Amino acid sequence: MNLIENEMEDNDFNCDQIILERMISLYLQHAYRAITKEQAVNEMARIKADYDQMIDQEVQELSDNVESMVAYLKAMKNAFAKTGTEDGKVKFDCPLCEGEAVALKHKGGFYTKCHGCGYTAMS
Ligand SMILES: [Zn+2]
Repeated sequence: MNLIENEMEDNDFNCDQIILERMISLYLQHAYRAITKEQAVNEMARIKADYDQMIDQEVQELSDNVESMVAYLKAMKNAFAKTGTEDGKVKFDCPLCEGEAVALKHKGGFYTKCHGCGYTAMS
């Protein structure tokens, strides 16, 4: 297991690697008869349940990120709609932190940043 741990950076935390490490450990324990088949089957069920929970959490975080992005871009779009112009600069309230956000639009592309939470987006 040290092989895998050594290759993992602290900030490169990945649920797939954790699951893989647990499965390899389980396989070795079973191969060396350190645990019974029943213990291995039970541990495998726990690993699968943990994996499912991690995936659910990742999906939820992704969904939250998409909702934040949509709310932010809607606020930006509304700010531009109020000015009645396609290009230019607008200020608006960030829906994520209620800080001041700024957006620049030019020829269909845009750049926006919130001075409160640091959210940025561009196209
Ligand atoms: Zn913000």
